[in-house]
Amino acid sequence: MSKTKYVVQLCTSCGREAKMEIIGSIVGSETKTWYRCTRCRHSILIDSELQKKNNPLAVTRDSCINYSPEKEFHIGEAIYHSDWDDMGTVKSKERTSNGGNAIWVSFEKNGLKKLIENLPQD
Ligand SMILES: [Zn+2]
Repeated sequence: MSKTKYVVQLCTSCGREAKMEIIGSIVGSETKTWYRCTRCRHSILIDSELQKKNNPLAVTRDSCINYSPEKEFHIGEAIYHSDWDDMGTVKSKERTSNGGNAIWVSFEKNGLKKLIENLPQD
C-alpha cells in the first residue's frame, strides 16, 4: 500500500485551499499530522483536536438552538438565526441600557453580532 493520500484544506503557509499530501502522524500524539502542500511544497503540522476546538464550522445545524428574542441563552451555546441562515456561538452576555438582556454571538457568516435575549412578552 504505497498509494499517497491527499486531503483538501487550508494551507497556513500559502493561505489558500490546497491539496495536501499526508506525510504521517506523530507517534504518541495521533491527532497531530504532518501535511505537505502541493502548491507551496511547505510541510505543516495540523492538530485535528485543536482544529476542532477552534473551528466554528465544527458547529452543526443539529446542535444549534433556534434563536428567538424571548429565549434565554448561555455562554458557549450554539445558536441558529433563521433570518440570516447563520450559525454562531454565544460569546458573552450584556445588560442593555434599557434594562434588557443581550448576547454577543460570533456568527460564521455575519461575524460578531449583538442580539436581544430574554425579552419579556406582553
Ligand atoms: Zn501551501
